[in-house]
Amino acid sequence: MAILKVARMGHPALRAKARALTPSDVRTAEIQKLIVDMIETMVEYRGVGLAAPQVHEGIRLFVADLNAREDDESESEPIAVINPEIIAVGSDLVEDWEGCLSIPDIRGKVPRLRDVKVRALDKDGTRIELRAKDFPARIIQHETDHLDGVLFVDRMKGFDSLTFYEEYARFWAKHDDEEKA
Ligand code: ZN
Repeated sequence: MAILKVARMGHPALRAKARALTPSDVRTAEIQKLIVDMIETMVEYRGVGLAAPQVHEGIRLFVADLNAREDDESESEPIAVINPEIIAVGSDLVEDWEGCLSIPDIRGKVPRLRDVKVRALDKDGTRIELRAKDFPARIIQHETDHLDGVLFVDRMKGFDSLTFYEEYARFWAKHDDEEKA
């Protein structure tokens, strides 16, 4: 296991479109090790999601803790999501705070779909379909954007909510957790 180096905003790796993996790619030792290392890296830096381009790998893979806000910590089991395709369920948009391990110490309000379905492969290369609402849906959209070279700041409607973490915690925080993806 290893803690991976996380690319910060400005690194070209964050702006490239990542390539899809086949189910047999997913099952290689190389990708299995990457998934383990990405989960370890996400946990180390107290993130709720981490996409492969953030660790300099141009492939359509992210890891996420979709139950990060659940009170019961036993529910927290990070998963790997490969080749995600997001399908909107309804057209409700919600604006809420996001942070990113590649944009340290900054948060901002981002509009996202409230309710989504996701078709993807899991860590075994098996086809899965997930349904997510609110915060988990937000994580999935944030991470999928990373696979297309898109950062949360690109999705902001304006920059008036762009906030340093210290000021966020002081003036705006609703949750105690420092959530970064
Ligand atoms: Zn991010």
